[in-house]
Amino acid sequence: MSAVSDRRLLLVHAHPDDESSQSPATMARYLSEGAQVTLVTCTLGELGEILVPDWAHFTPAELGQHRLGEVSVAMGAVGVTDHVFLGGVGRYHDSGMVRDDEGRVLAPASLPANAFWSADLLEASDQLVEVIRDRRPQVLITYDPHGNYGHPDHIQAHRVAMYATLLAASPSHRPDLGEPWQISRVLWNSHNTELWTQGYAIAKERGIDLWPDIEGEPEPGRFGPDPARIVAVVETSPWLDVCRAALDAHRSQVDPADPFWQFYRIVQELPGAGEAYQLGFGIPFPDTGSLADDVFAGLGV
Ligand SMILES: [Zn+2]
Repeated sequence: MSAVSDRRLLLVHAHPDDESSQSPATMARYLSEGAQVTLVTCTLGELGEILVPDWAHFTPAELGQHRLGEVSVAMGAVGVTDHVFLGGVGRYHDSGMVRDDEGRVLAPASLPANAFWSADLLEASDQLVEVIRDRRPQVLITYDPHGNYGHPDHIQAHRVAMYATLLAASPSHRPDLGEPWQISRVLWNSHNTELWTQGYAIAKERGIDLWPDIEGEPEPGRFGPDPARIVAVVETSPWLDVCRAALDAHRSQVDPADPFWQFYRIVQELPGAGEAYQLGFGIPFPDTGSLADDVFAGLGV
């Protein structure tokens, strides 16, 4: 389809691969409908865990360069041509993460130089303000306040996206960064909690030992937010091949044989599977009695 749409979508992700695990179908769908889709990635993912033994010797800087290539292949598969690194390639370094005794994700005590977690929030947000005022998206997609599972770079991406949304709209803020622009709606990508529960049961039947430490059924809430908070779902099924190609491009981070990614594929193939969103800011979806299937619904574009 040619570019016949005035719809403009901006996605803010922390590391290369997050866009391909969270929102590939959403990006592919809106590109196919002629919308403008812009991806902002905040770091190069230099501290990701390397899953391919041949690449285990990579230094963080080498891994960052390698992942630049991976995300480029992934975006080629999805069709995204407007891809920006926040502040320029390598401006912010992956902060890394650690887990406490209870498995909770935390920022490491010792952060690398230029870690995104220690970025000046105003400076980082202004870099996004410039992108927002230039691209003028109606809808922005990013993480929830907990960064979905607590990774410090995801939390920081959320903060930067939310702060920049407010700053970009204010005529008194940094007029040198462009004309003010009000984003109409911010969505937080989310786990589809009910589908994850179904997928967990199927994985277990197939002998995929997802979390060997869990005895019996996982407790309610294990898989993410209350499903009642999900307001929109973009269906995955028309875009399954694209989703797979995008994720497979991130080979340093994604091992298809790993139980988690096997589970992820099971969930992706379930009837009704889709990329789920919560409303983070702005105009609610029209009240139709069911979940919205279009992230722009009710915005008049
Ligand atoms: Zn990430």
